[in-house]
Amino acid sequence: MNDNYRRISAAVAAAGATLVAVSKTKPVDAIREMYDAGQRDFGENKVQEMQEKVPQLPDDIRWHLIGHLQRNKVKYIASYVHMIHAVDSPELLAEIDKQAARVNRVIPVLLQVHIAEEETKFGFDAEELRAFLGDRPVYQNVRISGLMGMATFTDDMTQVRKEFHGLKSLFDELKQTYFAGDEHFMHLSMGMSSDYEIALEEGSTLVRIGTLLFGAR
Ligand SMILES: *Cc1c(COP(=O)(O)O)cnc(C)c1O
Repeated sequence: MNDNYRRISAAVAAAGATLVAVSKTKPVDAIREMYDAGQRDFGENKVQEMQEKVPQLPDDIRWHLIGHLQRNKVKYIASYVHMIHAVDSPELLAEIDKQAARVNRVIPVLLQVHIAEEETKFGFDAEELRAFLGDRPVYQNVRISGLMGMATFTDDMTQVRKEFHGLKSLFDELKQTYFAGDEHFMHLSMGMSSDYEIALEEGSTLVRIGTLLFGAR
C-alpha cells in the first residue's frame, strides 16, 4: 500500500486538496498501517462499521461519514464525527443540528448534489438547493461547509468531467448567492479512485479514495 499511498497523497496535497482514505470494509489493521504512514482523514459509509472501528484506533483520526445517513443514526456519531458528506434533506440537516447541540458541537456538513445520470433517491438537484438555501433556517450547531457529488458510473471521462465541472459551477454560484462572506462554505467533495485526477482538475477540495489505497473490496 505504501507506494500507492505516497503517490496519491502527494498528488492530492500538490493540488491543495485533502485525501479522505475510504476504509469501508477494511480491517482496523489496514487503517492503522496508513495512519502510521501519516494519514489522518478516513471515510466510512456506514454508521455501525464506523462505530466499531473508532474505539480501536487513535483519537486524532478525523472520521468522515461519506455514505447515506439515516436520521435516526445521527445521535450515534454526533460526539466525534469530523464531517458528514452526504446530507440530502432539510430534515437530516435539522437532526444533525439537534444532535450536535446535545453534545455541544458544531458539525461541518456537505450537501449532496445529484449530478449523475443514474436515477437515485439521494441528493438535492440544483433547483431544490437554491430554493432551500434561499429560505433556510439559522442553524447553531451544523455548519454547511460545501457540496458533495458523485459522477455517473461510466468509462466516459468526458461525461465525468462535465458533471464535476457542473458541480463546481453550482458551488461557485451558491457561494456567491447564499454564502457571501462565509469562509466556511469552502469544500467540494468529489472524486473517487476512478476519477480523482479529473476531480482535482475541476476544483475538488476533498477526494474520497478507497480501492486505489486499500485494494479491491
Ligand atoms: C466507497 C466510496 C468511495 C470510494 O470509492 P473507491 O472507488 O473505492 O475509491 C467514495 N465515496 C463514497 C460515497 C463511497 O461510498
